[in-house]
Amino acid sequence: MRDFSADHRWLSINTATVRKQRGIDLPLPDILEACAQRGIRAISPWRDQVHAAGLATISKLVKTHGFELSGYCRGGMFPAADAAGLKAARDDNRRALDEACELNAACLVLVVGGLPGALAGQAAHKDIALARSQVTDGIAELLEYARAQAMPLAIEPLHPMYAADRACINTLEQALDVCDLLDPVSAASTAGPRALGVAVDIYHTWWDPKLQAQIARAGEQQRVLAFHVCDWLTPTTDLLNDRGMMGDGVIDIPRIRGWVEDAGFAGYSEVEIFSTQNWWQRDCAEVLDTCMARHRSAV
Ligand code: ZN
Repeated sequence: MRDFSADHRWLSINTATVRKQRGIDLPLPDILEACAQRGIRAISPWRDQVHAAGLATISKLVKTHGFELSGYCRGGMFPAADAAGLKAARDDNRRALDEACELNAACLVLVVGGLPGALAGQAAHKDIALARSQVTDGIAELLEYARAQAMPLAIEPLHPMYAADRACINTLEQALDVCDLLDPVSAASTAGPRALGVAVDIYHTWWDPKLQAQIARAGEQQRVLAFHVCDWLTPTTDLLNDRGMMGDGVIDIPRIRGWVEDAGFAGYSEVEIFSTQNWWQRDCAEVLDTCMARHRSAV
């Protein structure tokens, strides 16, 4: 396993981690500047932050600062209640993929969606099997487009508490089953990064009794495309926006990183923390400095 204790060479900052400090949206160019000042080499920005600053502006800044993108957040949200909704999702995912290419991201992260309408507070139906089949169809369609542009797609399984409103793919096993279905790997073609893989976010997957085995399964086919870290707090006071800083919770992060690296992953450890009451109440500088320190001591 790589030694992270001496530097932050393999630290990436998911820019949602410092998106809204004390209630004020922090412009993405300011976040990039703060990361560059600290010698942070990789980021993973969110589309809304990129759009607010302008894709061309961010693309230029990424090049100027020499950042790598450990991923681009995010595509997905495939299910819809009608044909127009499905088409809108398809078109939006293609735009997300074009943006990921412009920014030279390592992958486009997919949060696949749940029951249509649920995120807005009113689910159109209760058929999660239908939502899952629309997810599979949506990924299949996007995969063709992604292959043509050589942009890997990373399915991110989300904790089951988000099955209704954010993602009906909830375990690594389920995500890998979709990968196997849509992007079968023959024995002769196991080399190189895959067109379709997974983002392993420990916040969503740490509890899974099959986690180690499924990470190993992903490794056999080079499907680990991204690794996201934060921590699970006890108690957790908000199901979306109370993620902990690495080392403040109950996840054995080094153990899971060891599994992921045993599976062949050698990319960035991406810090992704949504924290309304704690980390979003602090200065960007303090949050980034803490991320760097904990990357060395707790990841
Ligand atoms: Zn994540």
